[in-house]
This record gives sequence, structure tokens and C-alpha cells, in this order.
Amino acid sequence: MKRSTLLALPPADLARSVVALGEKPFRAKQLWRWFYQRYETDFDAMTDLSKPARALFKERYHPLLPQQVRVEASRRDPSRKFLFRFADGESAEAVFMAHEDRTTLCLSTQTGCPLGCAFCLTGRRPGRNLTPDELVGQFLSLVRGMAGERVNVVFMGMGEPLLNVEHLAAALPFLYETVSPKRVTVSTAGVLKGIAALGRVRPLPRLALSLNAGTDATRRALMPVHTYTMRELFEAMLAYPRKPGERITLEYVLIKGVNDTDAELGALFDLLKPHRRVFKVNLIPYNAVPDLPYEEPEEARVDAVGRMLARREITVTVRRSLGRDIRAACGQLAGEGLGPP
Ligand code: SAH
Ligand code: SF4
Repeated sequence: MKRSTLLALPPADLARSVVALGEKPFRAKQLWRWFYQRYETDFDAMTDLSKPARALFKERYHPLLPQQVRVEASRRDPSRKFLFRFADGESAEAVFMAHEDRTTLCLSTQTGCPLGCAFCLTGRRPGRNLTPDELVGQFLSLVRGMAGERVNVVFMGMGEPLLNVEHLAAALPFLYETVSPKRVTVSTAGVLKGIAALGRVRPLPRLALSLNAGTDATRRALMPVHTYTMRELFEAMLAYPRKPGERITLEYVLIKGVNDTDAELGALFDLLKPHRRVFKVNLIPYNAVPDLPYEEPEEARVDAVGRMLARREITVTVRRSLGRDIRAACGQLAGEGLGPP
């Protein structure tokens, strides 16, 4: 079911939709400001619109945002997980993480993921691409009431962003209205064509890659997308345009006994050695997923791996997983609770 919407429309299209309703074109500028600068999508709150205009927009375009089916707040940390349902009944989750000086929004790009990584819950159902208005709607739903605050956006929720580059590229300008491109990160499992396509998007968002292995064999076993070689993967990343000093993040999910062994990490060091200034590594301790055979690493091992990398002058951070008690941590998003896929 295709639903018409006012969201994610470029200025000229927004003006056309407004005029089609019999309103003056300047209303489009007003709506733009409300949506993308003030994060307001409730027509009743748009005080500079005439009452009849508000009623008209509301009648024709309500609801603007995807339906929020559920919000869960973590009891252990300041994160919240949102479950959205879209017009066709498909769903996706997004996570709001408050830090001291900023807020990070982790958004989904698909309603599942066709890449099917062995360790990832999202990868157990293929799902579909989110449309530009669903991507923007997800963002606006999470940032409501936060105008003027510092927000980071990471496309690390459900799905593989680079299988949905076209819609993602169409959605980014609406986020860029308030969020600087350097605060927007797109995480990929390594869709080579997609990395090149994202590299042509302007303004350019930051790139993160889920590496998760040091050798081709381990990466292939964990991530079926790895039909190429590490060499080709690194070539694709090195070709991604970067601003001076900006680094590409390599995410590395540490899975006990699988990719945290000395042999695997030795191979990782060799891969990274020539490119110390290009990459930084983000270690993510694996979050166990029911029915999957993978185990979480001991904390001491995570710290040891971090120290090993740092000793070899590789910039490394360890991601403290927020939201684990509400299954909002990395790889735990699945749009659960809506019945079988
Ligand atoms: N598809 C993209 C973005 C979404 S996945 C990608 O793979 O990069 C976001 C991150 O969560 C990836 O780095 C992935 O490796 C990681 N991840 C998946 N399942 C996980 C789990 N169970 N525990 C910890 N991290 C996980
Ligand atoms: Fe998809 Fe990323 Fe999960 Fe792999 S890790 S299945 S690419 S969402």
C-alpha cells in the first residue's frame, strides 16, 4: 500500500503538494522549518499556519510519522528502544542513546536483513528497504523535542544500509538540515558496490565497516556477503573519499573462540599495519542471541584485545553496549513482538 506523505519531499515537490491542496506556496517553507529545523510534525502545534490550513494538512496527511508501537526504556542506562510499524504492517526498531554531551540515534534502513550474518538476529529474516519518508519519519520521531541539541546519527540498526543507498541518499539532506554530515555514520557489512555508491553522495556521510575477522576464511564463515577478499574490501574502503584527519571506523564484534583468537588478531594487525592512520577500530563485545551458538567474550579478553591493538599504535575504542536489558544492543534488533515474520 503506497501512502502519500509530505515527508522527505525536496522543496519543489513539497511546494507542489501544498499548492495542490489549494494553499499558498510559502506554506511549504513554513512546513519545512517545522519538520526539519524544529522537529515538529504535529500540525496543531504549527502556530504560524492558519487554523484552516492546519486542519487541511491534518485531514490529508495525518499521521505523518510511522506508528510507534512500543517504546522501552532501559532500567540500567539512558537508552530507549522504539518499535515502529509502517503502513504495510512491516516494522523496524530504532534506538535512542543519551550520553552526557550528545545523543546518538541508531536508525534502521531495512525491516530485516538479507545478508544473513551467522551471529546476527536481524539477519534471520530478509525484510524490505525502508523508503525515504520512513527513514526521515524514524529520525523525526526520535528527535522530537530536541531542536538545538547535539545529535549523532548512526545507520547501524536493522538492515544493510548499502543495499538501500538510493533511499538513504534521498533521506540524508533532511537530516543534514540540523545534523552535520560528519555526525552521520553509515555502517556496512561490506557491499563493495554500495561503498562506491555512497562515496559519490554529497555531502558525504562517514563510513563504518563491520570487519569482524582478520582472515578471509573466518569472515566468509561469519558473513556470507564476503564473496571477495580482504584485499578487495580494503581497496574499496581506501577509495572512499575522506576529509583530512577523518578515519573510517572498523567495527569488530568479538565472539568468544571464533574471532578473538591470537591467530585471527595477528592477521588483523597485519591488515591494519599499513593503514594505521586511515582506520580506527571499535571493539564490540558480542551480545548473545537466543538459539545462536555464539558466546560472549570475557571482559578481561575484550580489554586484552584492546590493549594489544593500542600497543601496535592502532586507535581503538571498546563499545559499551547500551540497552542490553531491552535487547536494544547491537545485533539484537529484530522487530520482535509482532508475531512470526
Ligand atoms: N548491516 C550493517 C549495519 C547494521 S548491524 C552492518 O553489518 O554493519 C550493526 C553492527 O552490529 C554491526 O557491526 C554488526 O557486526 C553488529 N552486530 C550484529 N549482531 C551482533 C551481536 N549479536 N552482538 C554484537 N554486535 C552485533
Ligand atoms: Fe545484516 Fe549487519 Fe546483521 Fe549482517 S550484521 S545480518 S549485514 S544487519
